[in-house]
Amino acid sequence: MANLTIDAVKAMTFDAIVIGSGISGGWAAKELCQKGLKTLVLERGRDVKHVTDYPTANLNPWDFPHRGQVPLDMRAEYGKSRSFMREETLQWAIKEGEQPYVEEKPFTWTRGYHVGGKSLLWARQTQRWSDFDFDGPARDGYAVDWPIRYADIAPWYSYVEKFAGISGNKDGLPQLPDGEFLPPIQLNCVETHLKDVLAKNYQDRHVVQGRCAHLTKPQPIHYQQGRAQCMHRTLCVRGCPLGGYFSSNASTLPWAEKTGNLTLRPHSVVHSIIYDEKKPGRAKGVRVVDGHTKQMMEFYAKIIFVNGSALSSNLILLNSVSSRFPTGLGNDSGLLGKYIAWHNYRGRVSAQYDGFLDKTTDGRNPSNGYMPRFRNLHKQETDFLRGYAAGVGGGRGSIQNRDGLGADLKASLLNPQPGPWNVSSWMMGETVPIEKNHVRLDTSQKDPYGIPLLVTSADWTENDDKMVNDYMEQLSEMFTLAGFKNIKAADSHSAPGSDIHEMGGVRMGKDPKTSLLNKWNQLHHCQNVFVTDGACMTSTATQNPSLTYMALTARAANFAVNELKKKNL
Ligand SMILES: Cc1cc2nc3c(=O)[nH]c(=O)nc-3n(C[C@H](O)[C@H](O)[C@H](O)COP(=O)(O)OP(=O)(O)OC[C@H]3O[C@@H](n4cnc5c(N)ncnc54)[C@H](O)[C@@H]3O)c2cc1C
Ligand code: SF4
Repeated sequence: MANLTIDAVKAMTFDAIVIGSGISGGWAAKELCQKGLKTLVLERGRDVKHVTDYPTANLNPWDFPHRGQVPLDMRAEYGKSRSFMREETLQWAIKEGEQPYVEEKPFTWTRGYHVGGKSLLWARQTQRWSDFDFDGPARDGYAVDWPIRYADIAPWYSYVEKFAGISGNKDGLPQLPDGEFLPPIQLNCVETHLKDVLAKNYQDRHVVQGRCAHLTKPQPIHYQQGRAQCMHRTLCVRGCPLGGYFSSNASTLPWAEKTGNLTLRPHSVVHSIIYDEKKPGRAKGVRVVDGHTKQMMEFYAKIIFVNGSALSSNLILLNSVSSRFPTGLGNDSGLLGKYIAWHNYRGRVSAQYDGFLDKTTDGRNPSNGYMPRFRNLHKQETDFLRGYAAGVGGGRGSIQNRDGLGADLKASLLNPQPGPWNVSSWMMGETVPIEKNHVRLDTSQKDPYGIPLLVTSADWTENDDKMVNDYMEQLSEMFTLAGFKNIKAADSHSAPGSDIHEMGGVRMGKDPKTSLLNKWNQLHHCQNVFVTDGACMTSTATQNPSLTYMALTARAANFAVNELKKKNL
């Protein structure tokens, strides 16, 4: 960069840089641009424009050349990354060579490498955390204490909920705080039946409608974003042309763009953050490998938000070495990349119900029922730590009578009859972060951009196994009480990470000796760098995490801009 003119450096200089344009990066971009900062968003993948870049959104089943299946030769190209391996969603899948990683132990890493990141892939469930979650590590002594409590983040939950549009009921449960809700999607009769049975038989077990980021009744703020009411098409994973659910592409990024302060640069693979050797405790910019030319370039800013998604953000920080930080940016504690955790979705319980044969559902439901955590809330009551929530869903399949011949057979095939009610539940357990579960950089292998490969080294613990067993027992008990039949409980023994909510490695904490980030998501030792995606999470709770990333990001952006105004950054 030494031969660059002052003007060229100026052209590469912004007030703020955001790494990643997914759920948390979109929020960082919106907040920083709205507060007047010229903001550069660096995104490693291609651009995805809302509406125009959802190629399968309006296709009918017969429009797909292979009726939805992906041919075997194409499958091979995607290797390990088999998520989204359907014709309707293949545009989101990652090719094997794009960014290989080393699984020291089996670990499934699902990524969304395009503008919008996984905000185009997610299931949109958005439950708030409670103090039972923020208190968890302090109560049982595993991992470190969170530097914040529910009261610190509650106003920011409200702030992001109002903009994103979250539907739900006010259920009045301390372990699942209520929010700023649009009208709820309804539970169906079999889900309501389970809810009633639990209310009669237990004091602490509840089924509620899952809170979800769907516009059931858009408000003026949503129309201003150009979004419209969710029509329950349940084709969300193709991209919703109506903007019926929250994504960066439909919501935060266009909002940021409208301010005139956003520069979005796709095909920009962030290599590392540049530490400013002349200004102790500050970074000066970001090194980027251009996705097309593979040329290294530098961009500069006063503040940097790291939002590459949990493991990518770990990788970027680990790769940001300097003479001050030889093992990764801000890593004086030596804990960068450690205490990786995720969610435990291994347990499933399914059953059938003989009742309600006179009822069926009309239309589609993009959400589901939700059973908030009930284990170890007020006291430690089991031989495992923390607890699990559960998703709950019921529906009637259809039965086609294939007997007969000719016109009779045709008539019965064309007139399927409703089958029995099926009910299923999936576990959403908290894993307790331990030091041994970590990511690090491979010392010899590099990806196509010259960046060291990430090594994942994480495994289940005895605590996780015990929790799965308890989930299967308790859900089977509850299903039995509800009169469900043919109950089947199974442990998938899936690899860690399959449960998509990976977190940690750059955890928040009170003490710089045992954490990387302070209560404002600011690196203790490099104060103009903020990490507000899943990497910052000190523990994992049971709730789907993205709403918490959104709230933490908006909160940190507000803090960063105030600090900038006070000339502290
Ligand atoms: C199938 C599925 C269902 C899910 N359901 C839910 C749910 O119901 N509720 C919930 O809360 N969460 C859910 N999640 C998880 C949710 O999607 C993530 O928690 C969320 O998207 C994380 O936001 P993020 O900003 O950290 O990362 P992402 O949204 O993944 O965005 C990260 C962005 O950074 C970019 N990036 C990465 N590395 C670099 C680099 N080196 N340089 C430049 N850019 C980079 C990526 O390309 C990406 O665009 C689900 C995920 C999946 C896959
Ligand atoms: S269910 Fe709603 S959000 Fe999903 S694709 Fe349909 S209209 Fe869009």
